[in-house]
Order: sequence, then structure tokens, then C-alpha cells
Amino acid sequence: MATEPTTVTITGGGGQIGYALMFRIAAGDMLGPDRPVRLRLLEIPQGMRAAEGAALELQDCAFPLLTDVDVTDDPLTAFNGTRIAMLVGARPRTAGMERGDLLAANAGIFGPQGDAIGAVADDGVRVVVVGNPANTNALIAAASASPDIPAERFTALTRLDHNRAVGQLTEKLGVGADQIEGVAIWGNHSASQFPDVTHAVVGSGDTMVIDVLAERLGGHEAATAWLDDVFIPRVAKRGAEIIDVRGSSSVASAANAAIDHVRDEQLGTPRRTWTSAAVVSRGEYGVPEGLVCSFPVRSRGHEHGYEVVEGLDLDDRSRARIAASVDELVGERDAVRALGVL
Ligand code: NDP
Repeated sequence: MATEPTTVTITGGGGQIGYALMFRIAAGDMLGPDRPVRLRLLEIPQGMRAAEGAALELQDCAFPLLTDVDVTDDPLTAFNGTRIAMLVGARPRTAGMERGDLLAANAGIFGPQGDAIGAVADDGVRVVVVGNPANTNALIAAASASPDIPAERFTALTRLDHNRAVGQLTEKLGVGADQIEGVAIWGNHSASQFPDVTHAVVGSGDTMVIDVLAERLGGHEAATAWLDDVFIPRVAKRGAEIIDVRGSSSVASAANAAIDHVRDEQLGTPRRTWTSAAVVSRGEYGVPEGLVCSFPVRSRGHEHGYEVVEGLDLDDRSRARIAASVDELVGERDAVRALGVL
């Protein structure tokens, strides 16, 4: 019997990341070569033509796994029966815009989308927010979808930061990406994030990244200085570096990370290791309950979703960096509360 297609909704389907995402999803890169996909593209009226054009191209690819594509500006149509929602479209920060204005504009997008997901999505829907400020947009959408959909089904993307951290280590250590495990991104998807290599290992797992760095750089103090002065800022500010070099934002790597995020959540992470995602805190590592915060996470597949890896030792340096990023998340949450959104 043919497998029932999985409905995947992409918001901002006429935008750049949406364009980079949909062809790979339709090709089977996200859910595997055996799962047919029904794509729903949500846009605002101004974005409809671009999304419709992308849908024409999808048709021209004749992907065997793609059963149909709908383009709509109605959230209730877009999220009807959806199993996986990828919330990409967001209001970008424009010149002169204050943080409060940005949060308010995005609350006006992610609140109604959360309402629609609560009303019509599949009971088992899982949601990833890509559009910035991603953590707080996820918080808003989750609050709006409650109580129909449990908040923990909402996550935000920090996999791009995770992949960027791994990429920096591969360059520094001269090893392949598959040789590095145990990197973690903590906190907010912003410049305050903490890309953490304290528990990262190289190769078969018995060599710590920090020890290899110390050996190469002349001691543990020098390794920590490299992490603080070079590695962390480079990962956290990589988006700006890409814009500077490429003249345009990091679209393909963002789409790739969104695919990695959903694939690992749906199909499960390898048993030994973990990845990074922003999930609803249950108070792990002292992060206030309810915040959407990035942690090291594992998944045992769609039914379970991402679960925080607990029990990692955190030194004072790590605790201070995590606390600073969590403070920023608390500030964003309080700002949207002040707007009466939560
Ligand atoms: P992109 O597709 O390039 O980006 C979309 C969002 O992803 C932005 O919020 C952007 O944040 C965020 N993002 C996260 N990580 C990255 C990254 N590494 N690099 C770049 N962006 C990242 O934006 P476009 O303007 O091309 O497209 C947005 C589309 O969304 C438009 O077509 C618009 O019409 C649509 N839209 C749809 C809505 C809806 O469906 N209801 C609502 C609002 C917009 P940042 O701004 O910080 O770069």
C-alpha cells in the first residue's frame, strides 16, 4: 500500500530560505526516500506570486515523492492537517526599528499562526521556527496554540549555529565534520549565544577537542583564549560575515540547517551523540521554565521530539555565558509580555 503523504507547511514560501528549502524537501532530503510529501506554502499577499512561481518550478522537477503543492495566504488552509510546520517568514528588522517594534511586528505574525496551528494542524504536529527573533517567535506561537497543541512541540532553529561551530572546528583541527561530536549551542539564536566545546570529542570519542586545541596552541589557557576571542565571536557573528563576503544572507546554509533540524527530530539522533535546538525549558540547567532556549538535545523520533541532554557538568565560564544569553531571552519574553502578547 502506498504511504500516506506527510503534510509539510512552509511559511514565507516566496522568500529566499523557503526557495532553498522546498526543493530539497521534495527530493527526500528531509524525511527520507520513502516518505511522500504534500507541501503547503503560506505567504502574505505581496509574496504570493513568488511562491506560486516556486510551485511551478516544483512541478517542473517532477519529484517522485511530491504529491501536491498548495500556495495560500490563508493560515487555516496552510496549516490544515499539517504534521510539520516550518515557520520561516518573518518581519525583518529595518533601519531605525527598535527591538520592541520588531518583537511587536513578529508577534502579529506568529500569534495568529499559532492560533491557526492550534485550530487545524494535525494533533501530532511539530513546529520549527526559523524567522527571527526565532526563540521568542516560537514562544509566542506556542502560547497561541495552547492548549490545543502542547508547547513542547514548538522549537526554534539553532542548528545553523551548531553546524557553524562544527565547521570552525573542522578547519582548525583538520578533521572531517563526522569526526566531531558533542558540540552544543546554549541560549538565544543571537550574538549572545554560547557555542560550547567543553564536552566535544574528536575521532572515536576518547580525545577531547579542548585537549587537541591546547596541544596545538600551547596550553589550555591559549586554547580557552582562542575559544573566547576567535571561535565564539566567529560562530555568533557568522551571519554578518556571510553577508559581507557574499553580498547576501546565508540562505542555503540556513535552509540546510532547518532540514537537519527536522530530519533529526523526525528520524532520531544517533544514540551516542547530540545536536542543538531551542526547545521549551522545563527548568533544565537552571533556565527558567517556559523559555525557548537552545540546549544540547537528542531525539528518539517524531513521537518524542527533542529532549534536553541532562547531567552535563558546566564550569563557571560556561554558566556565566549561558546566564547572559538566558537573560536576553528573559528580556525578550518580558518585552512581549509588556505588549500584552503572552
Ligand atoms: P529569508 O527567507 O531570507 O529569511 C526569512 C527569515 O529567516 C528571516 O526572519 C531571517 O531573519 C530568518 N533567518 C534565520 N536564519 C537565517 C540565516 N542564517 N540567514 C538568513 N536569514 C535567516 O527572507 P525573505 O525576505 O527572502 O523572505 C521572507 C518571506 O516571508 C517573504 O516572501 C515574505 O513575504 C514572507 N512572509 C510571510 C509571512 C507569512 O507567511 N505569514 C509573514 C511575514 C513574511 P533575519 O531577518 O534576522 O535575517
